[in-house]
Amino acid sequence: MSSATRNRCSGPAYHEAGHAVVAMLKGRRFRHATIVPDDGDGSLGHVYFRVLRAFDPEIWSAGDWVLDDGRKAKRLDDEVCILVAGMAAEAIYTGRRNWRGAHSDYRAAVNLASYRFRGWNDAITAYLRWQAAEAERLMTQNPLNWKWVQAVAKRLIREKTLTEANVRQTLRSLSQCTFPETVAKSVAKQPTKHPPAT
Ligand SMILES: [Zn+2]
Repeated sequence: MSSATRNRCSGPAYHEAGHAVVAMLKGRRFRHATIVPDDGDGSLGHVYFRVLRAFDPEIWSAGDWVLDDGRKAKRLDDEVCILVAGMAAEAIYTGRRNWRGAHSDYRAAVNLASYRFRGWNDAITAYLRWQAAEAERLMTQNPLNWKWVQAVAKRLIREKTLTEANVRQTLRSLSQCTFPETVAKSVAKQPTKHPPAT
């Protein structure tokens, strides 16, 4: 199998595995990760996140140019990091960045960054690069974390769809590390496709 064919088969699996593993590391809940293509939106897979009940990207009120709550800013940073983690995992695996394949992630990340920096383009560009680098760091600085991404990607290729419990089980099988069982109280039970990861 050529490397191009291999990347076409495995790239989407690494992409979704990147979203899922970084979401786990951030304590962000999701229902499932899948590499089943969606004919409706043309995506090659997605991670189906649970809604953050209290998440409101409108972190500035009118006329207020100061972050009113550091926790909101951190939550927004986490969301952006998880969004760009798919592209970052694919880049580590294939050796090249593919923003085109992750256009809905990119659009969502730009939207959140625009709230964060009130449309200040230089800051938005630098911030997105920083979050992409942070996602890469999270997945590779500890070699175990990249093994997690690889294991989730391989299982996705075999099974196509994994629940959050499946992903947790895969990670646990590679380590004795424990993951956050409790998550922010703001996590609602009602699921939705947010953000619309590709
Ligand atoms: Zn994605």
